[in-house]
Amino acid sequence: MHEAAITEGLVRTLLTEAARHQISSIKQVTVKVGQLKAVEPHALKFCFEMFVEGTIAENAKLIIVHLTPIAICQQCSTKFEVPKFHFRCPQCDSNELKLLQGEELFIESFDV
Ligand SMILES: [Zn+2]
Repeated sequence: MHEAAITEGLVRTLLTEAARHQISSIKQVTVKVGQLKAVEPHALKFCFEMFVEGTIAENAKLIIVHLTPIAICQQCSTKFEVPKFHFRCPQCDSNELKLLQGEELFIESFDV
């Protein structure tokens, strides 16, 4: 389950940021997850609860925002949403694509 390693990193970042701003309690955390990251939301929530136990984010609510994969075609510069891992340009059928969005995973914000 790669969610454990990902979540551990996220929680560490969260707690470091909170300490830097001298925050004593976190109520809600919003995380943005690219759909190509193949993260299971239930597993992410489960791991999050496990890693925040005993910390200032112990009772924080985790909000997961999914980001649709977006790519740009290197041949014709068409920008499009990638439907279900179908990595081909809808205009010219090229597979030379550059991914602009869809693989990220980061803390968007947190509320105290
Ligand atoms: Zn194209």
